[in-house]
Amino acid sequence: MTVAISHSPEVQAFFAKAAGIGNDQGNPRLKQIVLRILQDSARLIEDLAISDDEFWQAVDYLNRLGSRNEAGLLMAGLGLEHFLDLLSDARDSQAGYSGGTPRTIEGPLYVAGAPLCEGEAQLDDGRDTGQPMLLEGQVLGLDGQPLVGAIVDVWHANTQGLYSYFDSNQSAYNLRRRIRTDAQGRYRARSIVPSGYGCPTDGPTQACLDQLGRHGQRPAHIHFFISAPGYRHLTTQINLAGDEYLWDDFAHATRDGLVGEVEQLEGGVVRVVFNFCLQPAVHAEDEQRSQRPRALQAG
Ligand code: FE
Repeated sequence: MTVAISHSPEVQAFFAKAAGIGNDQGNPRLKQIVLRILQDSARLIEDLAISDDEFWQAVDYLNRLGSRNEAGLLMAGLGLEHFLDLLSDARDSQAGYSGGTPRTIEGPLYVAGAPLCEGEAQLDDGRDTGQPMLLEGQVLGLDGQPLVGAIVDVWHANTQGLYSYFDSNQSAYNLRRRIRTDAQGRYRARSIVPSGYGCPTDGPTQACLDQLGRHGQRPAHIHFFISAPGYRHLTTQINLAGDEYLWDDFAHATRDGLVGEVEQLEGGVVRVVFNFCLQPAVHAEDEQRSQRPRALQAG
């Protein structure tokens, strides 16, 4: 028989005190959040009859997750990062915002401050003998007018599925650039075709996925922040057509409208053409990306 005490006045008062409710110090918003975490955790423990062993295994798991810097990876893998996109979509719909390139997850591997290039850029440093890739397109408004001076902030993995900065074998900002669109709103990048990748096989995220009977693989993809004065910031990525994990992405990032067609050119070169379409900003803060902590980002 289930024993439940979490709703008793005594336990509720105890959690309120633990969350600092009633004192005049600290952060009221955080108190509210912590109180809810305590209340919901207690309900979960009761409803699922969580054993002490399971509870302390979970605590140890959180320690391992942090020690490997994989909390962001787990949020992608469990779908909570995609849920935030779905929630933003629903809020947009309710507010009457529509159209433009869909958003999708940022993931945990952005590095701020990539070199800024005018119109076009070479993304790779030439040390990885991957398949050459031309990546190009336009940044447009909803009415199709080209956006001059938009910033295309692009990052992707190498042929090993690894990202510079997080992979110390790559040069600084390898496969990362910011490109300012030209007078026709165009951007052009020369690079190498990225590989898909998986969670570290010995890490806590993959250990969790194993317990869920799931793989930890992503299709080959290219990440973008797209921004322009007067337009809503867009966080998105294009996932490359033909990848076996295109619609089986452990991070749930592939969406309709975000599949990049891969065109084979002569000489083993491939071309990916992708246009981005931005919604107008209603509020000044709409032009900015989230304040999520990121590598090498000031503040
Ligand atoms: Fe990625």
